Amino acid sequence: FPNLRTVADVVGFHAARQPDTTAITCSGRSLTYAALHRESTRVAAALGAAGLRPGARVAYLGMESEHYYEILFGAAKSAMVLVPVNWRLTAGEVDHILRDSGTELLFVDRGQAELAEKISADLPRLRAVVELDSEYAAWKAACPDEPPALAATEDDPIVQLYTSGTTGLPKGVVLAHRSFFAIRDALAGAGLHWIDWRPGDRSLIGIPGFHVGGVWWAMQGFAAGVTNVAMPRFDSTAALRLIREVGITTLCVVPSMLRLLLAEPGVGEADFRTVRKIVYGGSPIAETLLREAIAVCGADFAQIYGLTETGNTAICLPPADHVPGGSRLRAAGRPYPGVRVKIIDADGAEVPAGTVGEVCLHTPARMLEYWANPAATAATLVDGWVHTGDAGHVDEDGYLFISDRIKDMVIVAGEKIFPAEIENALAKHPAVAEAAVIGVPDDRFGEAVCAFVALRPHHTAGPRDLVLFLKDHLASFKIPARFEFIDAMPRNPSGKILRRALRDRFWRDRDRRVN
Ligand code: ATP
Repeated sequence: FPNLRTVADVVGFHAARQPDTTAITCSGRSLTYAALHRESTRVAAALGAAGLRPGARVAYLGMESEHYYEILFGAAKSAMVLVPVNWRLTAGEVDHILRDSGTELLFVDRGQAELAEKISADLPRLRAVVELDSEYAAWKAACPDEPPALAATEDDPIVQLYTSGTTGLPKGVVLAHRSFFAIRDALAGAGLHWIDWRPGDRSLIGIPGFHVGGVWWAMQGFAAGVTNVAMPRFDSTAALRLIREVGITTLCVVPSMLRLLLAEPGVGEADFRTVRKIVYGGSPIAETLLREAIAVCGADFAQIYGLTETGNTAICLPPADHVPGGSRLRAAGRPYPGVRVKIIDADGAEVPAGTVGEVCLHTPARMLEYWANPAATAATLVDGWVHTGDAGHVDEDGYLFISDRIKDMVIVAGEKIFPAEIENALAKHPAVAEAAVIGVPDDRFGEAVCAFVALRPHHTAGPRDLVLFLKDHLASFKIPARFEFIDAMPRNPSGKILRRALRDRFWRDRDRRVN
């Protein structure tokens, strides 16, 4: 079990011990640990030669590629901070991130070059834009192989990830090197392992690198010295092919990716023959989907729960709790060693087991701060506790159950309703592919429950069928007053439903009060 303190230590460690093992493969291109070590050292040197100093922000705006990891490890080796930017954002959103972070050097792939050109002229701190497909190789080669003599400590920042903005303007979450190793170390200290990595493992990175889940998962694989397999963007057909052809053994996905994988024509246990463990999390999972996945994939499942602000996972539901029929399947899991959970009421007082309130997490992997936003930092990070904005409860055995996001709660005539419960019930209907529930303005009750439903191909169901069905599953006040049928849910790139997009047309001219 390698003792790694910083991201900068990772590839050098494995380059010395297993230089010829493939570290990363993407789009048919591969780098061994020796090559990734060498190339990332060149990046570190080139960043220094470009005049950037420790702590400088370096942004990556592009799809997944082996370059992303060269730059991530290169930034670590030169004590700089990588700002991975979601390539699906609009020019205005990218501009906000580059400006807010004070990015000094920007890497872009071909697909983003035009956008970068449009916004870069106007960014005061930006010194250069390096196009990955045409200029990057020469940019790196122009430098000596000697890395700058700089060392980051475990408490220094390494990535600045912008929250996806499902709740407002993206904020830069600054994570330190320790965020990537703290949970792993705490588990090892307790004689446990997060993943029973084995030599020869091949790990699929399903979640993009601009999302905490993606970069965190990748780092777990690199730290373990296994072969990591990335794809430019998640595509379920390509992912299933990779799983089969590369013989993937471990993967980490968000529930919507799991849904897409299971919807692939002819998918079955044979496709997952080599897969030992599937890690999922990032948004609530419908119980029906989870049961189907367990039945089809025949692998060990582990759920993770956490936020960008908690350095990804703080809570885990291990494979042993994935017993079909067991009540724990609805839990998010238990805290890792060294992580504490408390549930608080609206006044900030801790509530007893079984009572729903706001989930607060105390984890050694927590963020350092929201970049240049002390007010938001103070509101979220209180005495080391991250206030998650999620509603949930802890049972007598210490298992955490997430009801939903507090801000997504619908209040009908004073009754609090959590969308996830209704969505879960709707997902049990054979015609329903997926559902999303929001609150819409209602003159009589303040809010009313509105369900957006996407039906499975060749299935039909109308509001009356769904209401009848739900009566068996839900209290009457939770049954949607309104149904909207749509082809597909609007989602952000990490697969989360963009409820804001669903809410917009209902709330355009009104204030929505939560709590
Ligand atoms: P925003 O920009 O609104 O903060 P985000 O989606 O970018 O949103 P993340 O940090 O990526 O923010 O997501 C964290 C949230 O995802 C949690 O607060 C929780 O609501 C949800 N989540 C993560 N894991 C799980 C899980 N296992 N079960 C249920 N919900 C989860």
